[in-house]
Amino acid sequence: MPAPATPKAELIEVFSSIQGEGVLVGHRQVFVRLAWCNLDCAYCDTPFAKQDQCLIETRPGCAAFEAVTNPVSLELLLERLKSWLERLPGAHHSLSMTGGEPLVQVDVLEEWLPVLRRYLPIYLETNGTMVAELQRVLSHLDWISMDIKLPSVTGALPLWDNHNEFLRLARTRNCFVKAVVSEKTPDEELRTTARLLSETAPEVPLILQPVTTTAGIKLSAAQLLEMQAQVAAIHPAVRIIPQTHHFLSVL
Ligand code: SF4
Repeated sequence: MPAPATPKAELIEVFSSIQGEGVLVGHRQVFVRLAWCNLDCAYCDTPFAKQDQCLIETRPGCAAFEAVTNPVSLELLLERLKSWLERLPGAHHSLSMTGGEPLVQVDVLEEWLPVLRRYLPIYLETNGTMVAELQRVLSHLDWISMDIKLPSVTGALPLWDNHNEFLRLARTRNCFVKAVVSEKTPDEELRTTARLLSETAPEVPLILQPVTTTAGIKLSAAQLLEMQAQVAAIHPAVRIIPQTHHFLSVL
């Protein structure tokens, strides 16, 4: 019986750029943005709806794209990835699987990640809610950037239990947690987040990421310092890092 074909992925875009968030800020990565998400956050500005075509940079970092038909095969992605790595040896730290929520396509990730990981370490950017799906691919991951979604920012119901179960698994890899905060974030949400990390994964850094746009950050320095102090009293491993790619004008 012939071996089953490797599943294809619904992708939005593939490009090379600088990581603008979290503890790996400043590292260059290949970004693979997958379609679909299981959440619907109020502040979301990420295009994740399924598209007929995926946009792939014609050269790494050139910001010019070619369109390829979705779904995309692993072979096509590997061909581009290998040529980018040959063109820029040593330039890329890791391969960022981002979204949307990449774990929605866990059937694809299960097959793709062991192959892609032969070329670059795998960095998963995730909203930190799909626990069973994470379990299926955990052994193929090198880095996990896990969000904690605060109801005051997402406009959705709290997801504390989901995040807690997810963090129990994620902490077994190189992991950090990111929470997007705004001027509407109540102190109680910050304290709940800090307690969750302190009790479940005290070694894991928490990044408070103020909502950042090209116009800047609405939260004042004093407000950010106060937020950091409140969290640090419960979970000392807390840093303030905005989304830096807005300032660098990179993708
Ligand atoms: S989890 Fe991320 S991609 Fe999904 S809706 Fe929220 S902000 Fe958008």
